[in-house]
Parts: sequence; structure tokens; C-alpha cells
Amino acid sequence: MTDQIIPQPGILDIALYQGGASSVAGVTKVTKLSSNENPFGPSPRAIAAAQATLGGLHRYPPIDHSPLCRAIADVNGLDADRIICGVGSDEIITFLCQAYAGPGDEVLYTEHGFSMYRISALAAGATPVVAPETDRTTDVDALLAACTDRTRLVFIANPNNPTGTMIDAAEVTRLAEGLPPQALLVLDGAYAEFVGDFDGGAALVDARENVVMTRTFSKLYGLGGLRIGWGYGPRAIIDVLQRVRGPFNLSLMQLQAAEAAVRDVDYARFCRDENTRLRAYLTDALRGLGLAVDTPHGNFVLPRFASQAQAEACDLHLQARGLIVRRVAGYGLPECLRITVGDEASCRAVVDGIAAFLQAVPA
Ligand SMILES: *Cc1c(COP(=O)(O)O)cnc(C)c1O
Repeated sequence: MTDQIIPQPGILDIALYQGGASSVAGVTKVTKLSSNENPFGPSPRAIAAAQATLGGLHRYPPIDHSPLCRAIADVNGLDADRIICGVGSDEIITFLCQAYAGPGDEVLYTEHGFSMYRISALAAGATPVVAPETDRTTDVDALLAACTDRTRLVFIANPNNPTGTMIDAAEVTRLAEGLPPQALLVLDGAYAEFVGDFDGGAALVDARENVVMTRTFSKLYGLGGLRIGWGYGPRAIIDVLQRVRGPFNLSLMQLQAAEAAVRDVDYARFCRDENTRLRAYLTDALRGLGLAVDTPHGNFVLPRFASQAQAEACDLHLQARGLIVRRVAGYGLPECLRITVGDEASCRAVVDGIAAFLQAVPA
């Protein structure tokens, strides 16, 4: 140890990211519903495309991502020249903080916002600022009130994780219009594909100079393990982000798998339809058991229990049945559990498990 070799300010304030658990001691067959993963896995075409790259692992990947950008643009009706691809949308969030926020600058996000906003802000030396939510939902007035002349980035996830709530296009527009001139609004659309008839904010990006959207292949497309995400923004901002992107940030396997996945629109539709159906089933069943559940818009539900103690006891009960869900006390929601919408058998097992728990310990 030396007291002279020290990291940049802010780095030691970063708490290590807590991922969803994937095992339970003493239980061999588990169902992982803790990381909002697609229960059906990626498109078979994406798997085939990834496998086809194995013979070329000694070659550097292309620096130019335009075939993937074109595929994303075709499927989503966007301008390919204003798309940037990264190692998960996490890397796009990192690029944004690196490029637009530094010491003395503020990065604003909401009370139950995604933990990467704080981590990336601190890593860039900037100051994280949290605005309150109202009923676990983004509060535009609270965000606008929290802006200062140092606010450089404002992140909202819409739908948000872990709350699953979202705000409508008029509210998002009001936020974009009300920001101070030096602040960029980032619309994190990790769950946009699950909403149905929703562009994730792309039209607002097209209409304005101060809005960027991030998206991911980790959720609907079932490629969380491969790490691919993208951002869409005004030309000037994408040009800035391209300068901080490492030239070889994505491997050929990532590029090819993502392109095949996004072009397999039938598979994506199947996954979305199953999520819609089973999310409704889970929501209704949990409400039927007497638990409060905000209407969910992503691929997870967030039942609220009577207390933190009851939520944790229920979690242990589910774990004993091999069902792994997510505690979200770290997101300021200690009385809740976040449960990913799995396949039909998993959803039924969760409902049966919670019903049995509540029968022993009523809500
Ligand atoms: C899962 C998630 C992401 C996606 O992260 P990747 O790096 O693309 O895997 C981004 N934002 C939110 C709110 C998420 O829940």
C-alpha cells in the first residue's frame, strides 16, 4: 500500500455492482428470475451466426459497424448513420459520461434509477444527483427542479428498472424541453421492446438536439451474455461518442449475432407476445394474492410486501423451491422483490410459491 498511488476522485465511492444471483446453496435445479433475461434464449439464427465466426477468432473484427447499424435502422425505422454500438448499453452509458461529464459536473437520475448511472458518473469524476420519484414513477417536475447550471446528463429508464413503471411521450417531451441548455437527456430504452407500439423515444431524438436513446440486445433479444447495446442520437453527439469508442470494442461474434437477432423479427415478436401474456398472468395472480403491484411495462414484475422482513422471508421461501428472484433494497425498495417474467412453468411456480408462503404468513 502507498498513500501516493491513488485513483482519481470518485472512484473509491463506487460500490461494486450487485448482479442477480444464479445459484442457491443445496438446491440443484434452479430457475433464475433475477436478471431480466429472456427465458427462451436468443434467436436460433443468432446462435448460428455466432458459431459461424469461430473459425476467424485470430482476425481483428471490423472497426466499422455499419452492417449492424443498418440492420438496427431497418428494423426500427431509424437513420443508420446516427447509431453507435457498444459492449452492452452499459458501454454507451459509459461513453456518455466520459464524453459529457467530469469533475464539477452533475449527472441526474431518479430515486429508483438503474445503478449504472451512478457508477459511470463517479467513474468520470462527476457528481451523481438523485431526484425523487412519485409512487415509484419518474417525476418530471422533480427532475426539472433538481437541474442546476452544472447538470450535464439526465438519465431516465423508460420503462424503468426495477420499478417497471413508465411515463408517456408528452411527459418525456416536457422533460426534454425544460432542461437547461447544457444538459443532455438520455432515454434508456432497455425495456422499450416489451411495451408494444413504442419507439423508445426515437421520434423525440429525431426532433431535438438534446436527446439520446440507448437500447440493448440483453433483454428481449436474449443476448445478455454476449454484451451488445446501441445508442441513437443527433449526429453531433454520435460523432463525439464515436471518438471515445475503442475501435475494436465489438468482436465479430457480437456483431454477427446481433445482426441476425435483430433481423429475426418473427422470433422477437414471439418473445414479446409471450412476455405480454405471462406478465399479465403474473400481475393478476399476485394482485389476487393481495400484493400491490404497479402495472409493469418491462419483462419483470415488482410485488410489494407488507415489510422488508416479509419480502426477505418470501425470497428465502422461493429460494428453497429453487426460484431465484431479486431483492431490491439497494434500489431503495426493501419491501419489494423483482421477479423476471420467465416461461409459463416458471411463472406458475412463482405464483404457487408465493401463494404457499402467504398462506403460512398472510400479507
Ligand atoms: C439491463 C439494463 C440495461 C442493459 O444493460 P446492457 O449493458 O445492455 O446489458 C440498461 N439499462 C437498464 C435500466 C437495464 O435494466
